[in-house]
Amino acid sequence: MGKIILTGDRPTGRLHLGHYVGSLKNRVKLQNSGEYDEIYLMIADVQALTDNFANPKKVRDNVMECVLFYLACGIDPDKTNILIQSEVPALTELTCYYMNLVTIARLYRNPTVKSEVNLRGFGESIPSGFLNYPVSQAADITAFDATTVPVGEDQMPMIEQTKEIVHSFNRIYGETLVDPDIYLPEEGFARRLPGIDGKAKMSKSLDNCIYLDATDEEIKKKVMQMYTDPNHVRVEDPGKVEGNVVFTYLDVFCKDEDFQKYLPEYKNLDELKAHYQKGGLGDVKIKKFLTNVLCDVIRPIREKKLELMNNLDYVYDVVKKGTAKANEKANATLRRAKANMGIDYFESETFLKEVKENMQKN
Ligand code: ATP
Ligand code: MG
Repeated sequence: MGKIILTGDRPTGRLHLGHYVGSLKNRVKLQNSGEYDEIYLMIADVQALTDNFANPKKVRDNVMECVLFYLACGIDPDKTNILIQSEVPALTELTCYYMNLVTIARLYRNPTVKSEVNLRGFGESIPSGFLNYPVSQAADITAFDATTVPVGEDQMPMIEQTKEIVHSFNRIYGETLVDPDIYLPEEGFARRLPGIDGKAKMSKSLDNCIYLDATDEEIKKKVMQMYTDPNHVRVEDPGKVEGNVVFTYLDVFCKDEDFQKYLPEYKNLDELKAHYQKGGLGDVKIKKFLTNVLCDVIRPIREKKLELMNNLDYVYDVVKKGTAKANEKANATLRRAKANMGIDYFESETFLKEVKENMQKN
């Protein structure tokens, strides 16, 4: 079997820089590498409903937003199938069978789920669908026979859970499912980009994001609010670059060319860091530089998205076609899984014969 990619996003808001460096950028790179036989990019509306069940409008409103961002970032529908999760019923069916292979204690132990449960204030009242979403994610990954899952670091526990399910399923029912591998960004900080407030993760739910369609003005405002070094009060004070969000973002986003273009008195980031650490370099100067760098990253995405918004019939067609392809693939996996589990009654050529033989024996 070839190399296959599956990834996705929850349609719970606009996409942000964390999505871009954590996953989207790698998806585009891998898509264009020509090394993958099939690529599936899923808008995870079923998963989004596990904690937004009372607010379905939010989910509905963000589905096409996701497609627009994908296309604006360079996803090519001729190479990547964009699909809507709830429109592929085989995923739900597989989830149901996988649930037997996972204990509730195991689901409670998932560190990403644990921190999301705290963040959402569920307390003891966790919806069972939410606790179970890693199992549903295992269904998504395996339905497409994915070998490679390009995601951020927060998804590591999900891939581990998927591997456990794959191993159990194959052990009990025979070799059926493909064992997937996570594909993380090379740069450490991109694996979990912090929010502008310095919190561990930029996330829609934490309201600490810079969105991929932000205007130059909005970008500037967000950068000016950024957390730096609280002890760096006066320009001449020595400053810390560790844990300083401006430097973390520069680590991820700025290139040497940006210095020639916007800050020619420094050759590269190492020089800028050294000056900051020594003292004599103010926050406003580094923030202005970062604003320029981020504006250059976001501007082409924002402009492409605006252009696509004038062609929504085309965008709708893209996701409809991608979903049709996804159904073919996922249905084939479901048939294979059910056959190996022995619950393929009407498709099996031997089922009725077996029944007759058994009845005669008794
Ligand atoms: P929500 O708050 O609704 O969970 P989110 O901002 O966490 O939204 P998701 O849709 O859950 O976004 O994540 C989609 C993909 O983007 C995943 O692969 C995830 O690892 C990646 N991702 C999200 N935020 C970041 C981040 N701050 N740094 C790196 N990767 C990220
Ligand atoms: Mg998330």
